[in-house]
Amino acid sequence: NQSLHALDPEIAAAVDAELHRQQTTLEMIASENFAPVAVMEAQGSVLTNKYAEGYPGKRYYGGCEFVDVAEQIAIDRVKALFGAEHANVQPHSGAQANAAAMFALIQPGDTILGLSLAHGGHLTHGMKINFSGKLYNVAAYHVDEKTNLVDMAEVERLAKEHQPKLIIAGWSAYPRQLDFAEFRRIADEVGALLMVDMAHFAGLVAAGLHPSPVPYADVVTTTTHKTLGGPRGGVILCKEQWAKKINSAVFPGQQGGPLEHVIAAKAVAFKVAASEEFKERQQRTLEGAKILAERLLQADLTEAGVSVLSGGTDVHLVLVDLRNSELDGQQAEDRLHEVGITVNRNAIPNDPRPPMVTSGLRIGTPALATRGFQAEDFREVADIIAEALLPAFDEAKAEALKTRVTALAVKYPLYPEL
Ligand code: PLP
Repeated sequence: NQSLHALDPEIAAAVDAELHRQQTTLEMIASENFAPVAVMEAQGSVLTNKYAEGYPGKRYYGGCEFVDVAEQIAIDRVKALFGAEHANVQPHSGAQANAAAMFALIQPGDTILGLSLAHGGHLTHGMKINFSGKLYNVAAYHVDEKTNLVDMAEVERLAKEHQPKLIIAGWSAYPRQLDFAEFRRIADEVGALLMVDMAHFAGLVAAGLHPSPVPYADVVTTTTHKTLGGPRGGVILCKEQWAKKINSAVFPGQQGGPLEHVIAAKAVAFKVAASEEFKERQQRTLEGAKILAERLLQADLTEAGVSVLSGGTDVHLVLVDLRNSELDGQQAEDRLHEVGITVNRNAIPNDPRPPMVTSGLRIGTPALATRGFQAEDFREVADIIAEALLPAFDEAKAEALKTRVTALAVKYPLYPEL
């Protein structure tokens, strides 16, 4: 039983290098976060060794008495956190949670209505070569060309026209809140079920800083690693009426043995998410995104053709619109990478550039808020980003901005215990 460094120095070196990268750069990918050490401890525990097909108290394997305890705690905590009637904590990922939820709710060949991938939806909401696009007949709604807000009139029109069995509300790249009550009304009007994928904003919901979809949706899916700040994984919440179907769609419908080490880590993350400290962190996440949007809307950037989609944000991310900028999404992402800030380029609605290049950036604040960033730090990082996106950019400027990035990274040490 050698240590990782002794047994496999190549992998150990990659892990060490990744830790160093996380510690020395500023992470602003909107779907990422830093899991607490306690979460990683649970995830790196002996629970990884255990087979536990089935559910607490009803397993197909012996020796499940302790993983039963951990899984039941995870279930109880996430139900309490979101006020849900039933929870399944076994999906290995957000995509698998969505696959299982759809498997439970509808039949292959049925019609689904989700937000277009090109307008901020997720692959699993009906993208052509994803399981969702292959198994189901897909209709997609969009954002309004002028406001960049989800066009609820179009949702209603398409729902009436296509009579979907399932409407999906949720997004991967959208800077505003959805109107869950209106989605429910439209779903009821056409006899559709409503699924909300809150993967991105679940942490805000848990903190009471974003409306909860739970009272409105038949089923709510989420990841546990984005704003929620836990281990990589998925969860399905639903009304009691769907509990049996959801459980059987996850296992044996979609998965075999659950990842009990990850489930234990999810339980730890749910405990953290119920705390006052977590709420305060989500407040700083929102405040940071607003500060960033305000800086990017200032005149120097406007003159350079840079703007902010929908004119601001109500959530943890900002979508930067580069359609009128000389910089495309790839070049902007590369510039920020050069100064030590990690973001991802992102196609924006009606993007004239190809998907591998794009005319947008998606910039999120959850990871920096977890790191401890306060309003003044977000002002500084917003200014660094703004400076990097201005036309005048050379090696000297890159160096100067990198020095400012390093100062912020040093101010908030990440995982010092590692
Ligand atoms: N749902 C939404 C809205 C997402 O943004 C994502 C991930 O980006 C997922 C689901 C999929 O999660 P995972 O990457 O864990 O499969």
